[in-house]
Parts: sequence; structure tokens; C-alpha cells
Amino acid sequence: MAYCQTAPMSDPFRTTVEEAAALLRAGKLCAFPTETVYGLGADATNADAVLSIYETKGRPRFNPLIVHCADLAMAERLAIFSPLARKLAEAFWPGPLSIVLPLRPGHGLADIATAGLDTVALRVPDHPLALQLLRAADRPLAAPSANPSGKLSPTTAEQVRRGFAGRVPVLDGGPCKSGVESTIVAVDGERLIQLRAGALARETIAETMGRPLEQVKQGAAISAPGMLLSHYAPNANMRLDTTPMPGEAYLAFGKLAPHNSLIRNLSESGDLHEAARNLFSMLHELDAMGAKVIAVAPIPQTGLGEAINDRLRRAAAPRT
Ligand code: AMP
Ligand code: MG
Repeated sequence: MAYCQTAPMSDPFRTTVEEAAALLRAGKLCAFPTETVYGLGADATNADAVLSIYETKGRPRFNPLIVHCADLAMAERLAIFSPLARKLAEAFWPGPLSIVLPLRPGHGLADIATAGLDTVALRVPDHPLALQLLRAADRPLAAPSANPSGKLSPTTAEQVRRGFAGRVPVLDGGPCKSGVESTIVAVDGERLIQLRAGALARETIAETMGRPLEQVKQGAAISAPGMLLSHYAPNANMRLDTTPMPGEAYLAFGKLAPHNSLIRNLSESGDLHEAARNLFSMLHELDAMGAKVIAVAPIPQTGLGEAINDRLRRAAAPRT
């Protein structure tokens, strides 16, 4: 091709920090390097952008995502830092430590980013390009590993490109230092609880902080009220794939919703993207309205419907 004979002014396949920031600000996805693995980034304040992460990864579940910040100041606008939490952040940020903290009122994050929880996992990554990108985008970025669901986490830009068959732009920062995901720690009053082992060693955290780092089994509840490990569930009991009985609240989907005073419709037009965007806020609303039982309309098991149904099934499962 004639095109290849002269060197182009700029490599059309190389995304710059400015281009990546512009994409993210426009609600598009862009993968970027961190010191752990490559992340599939989206504006964490934009619900549609965060939903594209799920669609692009083909992730069948809504897990809360780690929200990446440029610095402690950005993080403090999103969550409430106790003195202990601030000490932890100052000791290890930027670095491979995600800290789970209570959301600050007015935080502006999409609830799909925190999967409806009242806490958020925050991290300042230790990678010059990631930090430049976060500053240029000037907003927090949700970023799970940049691989299709079920595949290995990528540690090079080439792996990301191949994983998504070139459909996702990548900010190339060379190979990642660590290849291991961040350690996740929840600050619960004066306790530090490790929710996931990762690149930052437990002993290092315990020694630096001068207190033990408790371990929690995946799925166990943390003692503080409302601070479940990672899954929001409404207070009401749930009945799935059904229509409401008298006195029950109804989470509808599609046009043919029966008359009901305690009703929210995930999407009147039957749009799964809209339904996913509404899922957590509508469950919260029905809960706040005092629903004892929430009947849920059938939701197709295609596209984002898989993740919606997964979350509903888990919310409907018997509580221990
Ligand atoms: P990933 O971004 O895919 O590396 O994984 C994020 C992990 O962080 C999930 O597996 C969650 O269990 C955990 N996580 C994120 N936010 C929270 C939170 N608010 N509370 C507890 N765990 C969280
Ligand atoms: Mg992953």
C-alpha cells in the first residue's frame, strides 16, 4: 500500500494520553497500564460507560469495581477517610492497594460502579501513564482487568489488543511490573480487614500500620452494619420471574406492568441496557418505600440480562 511507504506523522495505532483522556471523557472505554495489570477504564461517574465495561468483557456478574484516582485529594471527594484510612493511603499510595471506604454523600459515582453498595474500593495506581491519564481525564476511572471474562489478566498492551480483537483502544505503557492484582483492604472503624490478597504483602501492611491485618473469607459479612463484603441485597424478600400478589412491590420490565402503587419499571421499552442502569437504584427505592416482598418480572437472559438475572438471583437467595 502506498500508505505504508511513507512514515505517517503519528502512528495511527498508538493512543496518546490526550486521546485516551478524550475518549474516557466522552464515555468511551480505553485500556491503560497500571503497575499490576492493564485495566479496562471507563468514567466511573458515567453509568453507560461503566456498563460498556460489562458488555465488552462479557462479564456475567455485576461486581463492584475498583475506582482509580489521580491522588488522595480525588479519592477524598468520593469516600470518607477516617484518620486510620488516611494513614493507610498515605503509606501505600500510589501503589497496589485498594481501600474500601464508605461513600461520601454527593460522590457522583455511578451506582453500577459500586454495584449498589454504600462503600467503594479506591486506589491510586503507581504507574506514570496511569497517573497522567487520570489527571488528564480529571475524573475517577473504574477499571477491572482488561481481558474478556474468564481469560487471563493482561500485562502487555498487545495482550489487551488480542484479547478484544483490536476493538478497544489501549494506552501502551509496556509490560506491567507486577502482574498480580491489588491487595484489597477494608477500613472498619479501627480494624483493617483484608478482603483480597494481592501485590502488597499482608505483613508489610501490618508492620507499617502497627496493627494486625485481619483476614476475611470471600463472601463473609463484615461486622459493620450494611458493609457486606461485596454484594448489595435489598432488605425485602424477592420473588423472581413472576407477577406481584396483593401487597407486594413490583420490579417490572417492559410495557405490560400491572397497576401497583409500589412499582418501578426497569425499562418500559424492554431495553436491557436501561434496565441494568436502573437496577440498583430501583431496588434501593423499593426498599426505601418499605417493600416487604419485591416480585420481579421475567428478564431475558441475553446480553446484560445475564448479569441482571445473576444479581437478582443472589438477592433472592435465602439469607443466613
Ligand atoms: P477487579 O476490579 O475485577 O479486580 O475486582 C474488584 C474486586 O474488588 C471485586 O472482586 C470486589 O469483591 C472488590 N470490591 C470492590 N468494591 C468493593 C466494596 N465496596 N466492598 C468490598 N469489596 C469490593
Ligand atoms: Mg480480572
